[in-house]
Amino acid sequence: MSDDWKPRTKMVHSGIRRSQYGEVSEAIFLTQGFVYDSAEAAEARFLQTGDDEFIYARYGNPTVRMFEERIAALEGAEDAFATASGMAAVNGALVSMLKTGDHVVSARALFGSCLYILEEVLTRYGVEVTFVDGTDLDAWAAAIRPNTRAVFLETISNPTLEVIDLRAVAELAHKVGALVIVDNVFATPVFSDAIAQGADVVIYSATKHIDGQGRALGGVILGTTEFIRKTVEPYLKHTGGAMSPFTAWVMLKGLETLDLRVRAQAAGAQAIAEALDGDDRLNAVLFPGLPSHPQHAIAQAQMGAGGTVVALDIKGGQAAAFRFLNALRIITISNNLGDAKSIITHPATTTHQRLSDDQKDALGITPGLVRLSVGIEDPSDLLADLRAALDAV
Ligand SMILES: *Cc1c(COP(=O)(O)O)cnc(C)c1O
Repeated sequence: MSDDWKPRTKMVHSGIRRSQYGEVSEAIFLTQGFVYDSAEAAEARFLQTGDDEFIYARYGNPTVRMFEERIAALEGAEDAFATASGMAAVNGALVSMLKTGDHVVSARALFGSCLYILEEVLTRYGVEVTFVDGTDLDAWAAAIRPNTRAVFLETISNPTLEVIDLRAVAELAHKVGALVIVDNVFATPVFSDAIAQGADVVIYSATKHIDGQGRALGGVILGTTEFIRKTVEPYLKHTGGAMSPFTAWVMLKGLETLDLRVRAQAAGAQAIAEALDGDDRLNAVLFPGLPSHPQHAIAQAQMGAGGTVVALDIKGGQAAAFRFLNALRIITISNNLGDAKSIITHPATTTHQRLSDDQKDALGITPGLVRLSVGIEDPSDLLADLRAALDAV
């Protein structure tokens, strides 16, 4: 493995471990445990003094380790711990490091289950959480205080695609020694430079772009060796939530084509956003790659692209949005994102249904808003599908 390989080379080759058979494709080690040559060897293994000392698949398996090493190489992180889902990663990263009396500052616009962990779970154990408008640096500065142990954010918010200035937030957090934890799904490993920009811990739901083909749930926590092995591993090792070897193999195959897929998806999203911008049947096209986007400059500097998701606010509210969704022929109604297939969601009645009307208003989730995750289909076919559905509204 080489540190100076370009990302596309790392996506194919980093972390590979071959068995004595010299297989080309990564082997799936479907084993929960490992045998020892002697009682002394078993005793020595439990001391875990060297590399490759697998003991039990709840905290180590060769196929899972290949995935962890490949994504760590790609992200520029020292180490990684793979989990059964994106939420196991978010929960593991936060709960492993926090204790009663700690304070966390979080952006308000979060994936619903992340909001649940911060609002309902952590607070039940005496962790205080302050929510801020992630794009308002003064609000971050006012909320961060000496006992703030962590800040939590998604660099691009779901579903309204606001972009948070990671460097600026990290600078504020690091002044008080708080850890910067980034849920980086929307930026994707392709457009992320989160660690260089100040993140201490980066989390992916691998279910999204990393698999990218709608097959498996998975997640990963990336950070320093110290954080992953001394804080995250002891917690996850004893509480479960490990990634399965089969899932790790699916994710390794996903990583091989990640760059090709995500760049094609981002180009499609850019083309669709530009083509629909200004359409008089829409109140707005929200996409960080459009110059009209309020954080366009930050998105360009932080990611160099607008991402793979476009939000459209359709005139006529929920009824018009439903007519629009029901008229689509290629783009499917579902709630995943990052998939090879283009997927559309009506957040107000599905992913964000649980929120009150006030919370929806605060996050800009209007009745006409739809979130489009652009797949790898030909963008001209997608655009024709979207235009025909707008005609049908
Ligand atoms: C999907 C998602 C998650 C949760 O991931 P799962 O793999 O579904 O558990 C967390 N954060 C963000 C931003 C997501 O999009």
